[in-house]
Amino acid sequence: MKIDTLIVGQGLAGSVLAWHLLEKGQRLLVVDRDEPNTSSKVAAGLVTPLAGARFALSESLETRLDYARAFYWKHEESCGRTFFHHRRIARLFQSEKERSAWTTRLENEGERYARFHAPLEIDPLRFHVPFGGFEMKEGGWLDVPAFLEYTRQALLERAAYAIARVESTDIAVEHGGVRWKNIDAARVVFCEGWRGNRNRFFDWVPMNAALGDILDLAIPALEDERRIVNRGGWLLPLGNGRFRVGSNYRHQFDSESPDETGEAEVLAKLAGITPAPFQVLRHRAAVRPVIRRSQVFLGVHPAHRRVAFFNGLGSKGVLNAPWYAAQLTEHLLRDVPLPRGSDLSHNHF
Ligand SMILES: Cc1cc2nc3c(=O)[nH]c(=O)nc-3n(C[C@H](O)[C@H](O)[C@H](O)COP(=O)(O)OP(=O)(O)OC[C@H]3O[C@@H](n4cnc5c(N)ncnc54)[C@H](O)[C@@H]3O)c2cc1C
Repeated sequence: MKIDTLIVGQGLAGSVLAWHLLEKGQRLLVVDRDEPNTSSKVAAGLVTPLAGARFALSESLETRLDYARAFYWKHEESCGRTFFHHRRIARLFQSEKERSAWTTRLENEGERYARFHAPLEIDPLRFHVPFGGFEMKEGGWLDVPAFLEYTRQALLERAAYAIARVESTDIAVEHGGVRWKNIDAARVVFCEGWRGNRNRFFDWVPMNAALGDILDLAIPALEDERRIVNRGGWLLPLGNGRFRVGSNYRHQFDSESPDETGEAEVLAKLAGITPAPFQVLRHRAAVRPVIRRSQVFLGVHPAHRRVAFFNGLGSKGVLNAPWYAAQLTEHLLRDVPLPRGSDLSHNHF
């Protein structure tokens, strides 16, 4: 079988890239191992425009945010379902230092920050607000599993999806393309998530994976809360008094399974947000693909131009994946240069 692009991995990276390549008329095959607890399947899918204690707005944040929202919205329009849920984020300060950092931002860079700011109204008996806070506009969350399943169905309809584990050692780089089993492709793109360097082509990329836990809870006392609440950790309302709470980062871990340490770390974050009583309904854990902070790395292999990589989505995959997938598509098909800091072939790790 002859195709244009073989994509290894149908997490968020592989899915979003597949849509961009399909739009360009590419013939694809997306191959995934179909594991139950991948980063994309466990992720809360939050988009938090102003993350971190200093509320820094990175240079192209608005571009990536607008692109991501338009991308998810386009797909919602085409299938009549909702994947991206717009929600304000009640951002509660953890300290006087955080409060003052925010006030300084508004005073000095008010024009840019105004887009994201609204005054906070919150009941101090239900949430911890000793230092105040604000409401962050333009946030929300993507139902990542629903988006993945929608993508998988669309690929199946095009006979462009297969369940299998692709070993990089089974890929032959041939003149003008690559070969895997009976598939001849013009290129292969590895979107393998946190194990992305257990791969003979990319074993030199320093993955710095981070295990994270997420709990689903019943919190009847907060049933009417619609906003995402963020204070050190985050609390995501799912409706009917059910919430999702997270998340911790563990760079050292022996197993990817949920354990008591993970649960205790997440519950400590919950305790910083609300004193409301709760019941744990479900505990999941997965490993985020981190290379350097949440910096995405993509591009072609320095020696094998038909072998490409898209990884490092970290904890901002929902926000970053669409815009970076668009850059990679242009790079692969028209040789348009990639954003320099993210171009794999220009990075010496
Ligand atoms: C607890 C937790 C909370 C998170 N919360 C958020 C959040 O709120 N917002 C946000 O934006 N991000 C969040 N993330 C991060 C988000 O999940 C990632 O940024 C993103 O989903 C990573 O997607 P990916 O496709 O790169 O990797 P993955 O989701 O790991 O997908 C890789 C896919 O490739 C498959 N695969 C790997 N190797 C092979 C192979 N050799 N052959 C075939 N298939 C293969 C895997 O089975 C998998 O399906 C969170 C992650 C975790 C763990």
